[in-house]
Amino acid sequence: MRVVIIGAGFGGIAAAIELRKHGFDDLTILESAPELGGTWYYNTYPGAACDVPSHFYSYSFAQRRDWTRLCSPQPEILDYLRGVVADHGLDKHIVTDRKVTSCHWDDQTCRWTVRATDSSGAESSYEAESVVLATGQLNQPAMPKLDGLDGFTGHSFHSARWDHDYDLRGKRVAVVGTGASAVQFVPEIAKEVAELRVFQRSGNWFLPRHHKMYPKWVKALIKVPGVQAVRRTMLFRYMESLTAAIRNPTTIGRFVGRRSARFMRNQLTDPEVRRKAWPDYTFGCKRVLFSSEYLPALQRENVELITEAITRVEPSGPVTEDGRTHEVDCIIYGTGFKTNDFMFPMDITGTEGRSLRDVWSGGAHAHLGLTVPGFPSMFLLYGPNTNTSGGSIIFFLERQVGYLRQALSRVRDSGAAAIDVRPEVEAASDREVQSRFAGTAWTMCDSWYRNENGRVIANWPNYMKDYGERTRTLNPDDFTLVRAPIPAGSSA
Ligand code: NAP
Repeated sequence: MRVVIIGAGFGGIAAAIELRKHGFDDLTILESAPELGGTWYYNTYPGAACDVPSHFYSYSFAQRRDWTRLCSPQPEILDYLRGVVADHGLDKHIVTDRKVTSCHWDDQTCRWTVRATDSSGAESSYEAESVVLATGQLNQPAMPKLDGLDGFTGHSFHSARWDHDYDLRGKRVAVVGTGASAVQFVPEIAKEVAELRVFQRSGNWFLPRHHKMYPKWVKALIKVPGVQAVRRTMLFRYMESLTAAIRNPTTIGRFVGRRSARFMRNQLTDPEVRRKAWPDYTFGCKRVLFSSEYLPALQRENVELITEAITRVEPSGPVTEDGRTHEVDCIIYGTGFKTNDFMFPMDITGTEGRSLRDVWSGGAHAHLGLTVPGFPSMFLLYGPNTNTSGGSIIFFLERQVGYLRQALSRVRDSGAAAIDVRPEVEAASDREVQSRFAGTAWTMCDSWYRNENGRVIANWPNYMKDYGERTRTLNPDDFTLVRAPIPAGSSA
């Protein structure tokens, strides 16, 4: 069976390892970037790190005991992923500089045709019995829709495409957005720029981040047999407790929210900055941010937090609703990603020429975030409703690749051409997922987890444990096996 995996980030790499382990050797991983790594290739902004502890933000089957700190910086995570790829001999399967433009299912041949272009514009195409879309939710930078944005005469870039050639030292800089990325790079650049204006649309809830290098004794302790496993279990429980707070906003959420408020009050000694930075929504509705450096940075002499909305951008800088023009040399957009788009604008058609864009016109949905009826042997990794606000996405990805491998093994063992989730199964699981958001903090404000209709399409509504249980064993009754049509004129 030939499998094309789209994306060489944590998801695509996990899929390749799992499939190879079970005898699926004909694998091609198409990656649009010049290198593997996905989000960890692209996000190189100063201070880029993962606020999920590395002992859990890493594959269970490739544990490292020499992480330098609890939450590793981007270069260390990218190195880890490169190391895993080398250890598993996956380099030969990865084709970089291939931006996939379309995936089309052919009802006659029961195959997918995947088309891609490279940076020179040359086209290539790949045939496969299965496609794995491992592009995730956070791959396409989103720019704000602001009048005059293109007319700005200074320099500008998005945080996920950091321009390291531009020297920020001594410059007047505007940062638009105050999400998980901005709170990591703002404290770093605040130290070197002349003036920093941080434009905030919504405040955030914060919890402390322990970002110091591990002392020698901790490193030594982690190497003691068994300690790593205990540590992972403890981290798992800690992360599940954050989900418990989000799921129960009036009880556990209130308690954890108070802890966050205490931490924030201690950090925000300037009453005016405190007033401006304070969030006006339920704890856990948007992503809770882990930073012990961001709020102090806002109170530096050279930093101003601006909460008036940007109304347009003039050639000299952003203009806010109070009429102020903020003259700056550079604008950095920390405005997140086109999360609702998933893999689009890729053109994807399944059985009878059905377009995925039409199927998802009311918002993305997939059985366990993985399979969509009418798109046989197509699997999504980090698909709809599989983001986590309190856990590690690596946990989800490992469960997903185990599940898709079971699906493909069924195809192989049965001699069928492909496997397709039953529409009624997908519809029922989608209804159930959506119903589980009722009463949770996720529904209590707008965030990138929801689409314009208010439907939560990004997040899993429950605990990691629950997702793990549901994806452990594929239920064959949830699927139909697709048989290739008998060719006309055949006597079979
Ligand atoms: P984000 O969390 O979506 O934050 C985007 C920020 O830009 C928000 O403050 C948003 O305000 C603001 N914004 C968006 N459009 C705007 C507009 N038109 N005008 C003004 N402000 C605007 O994006 P991100 O910081 O890049 O992070 C995205 C996700 O990546 C995170 O939620 C997280 O899952 C992941 N991430 C993880 C880590 C980690 O350490 N694990 C680090 C970085 C990123 P509103 O809040 O009002 O929408």
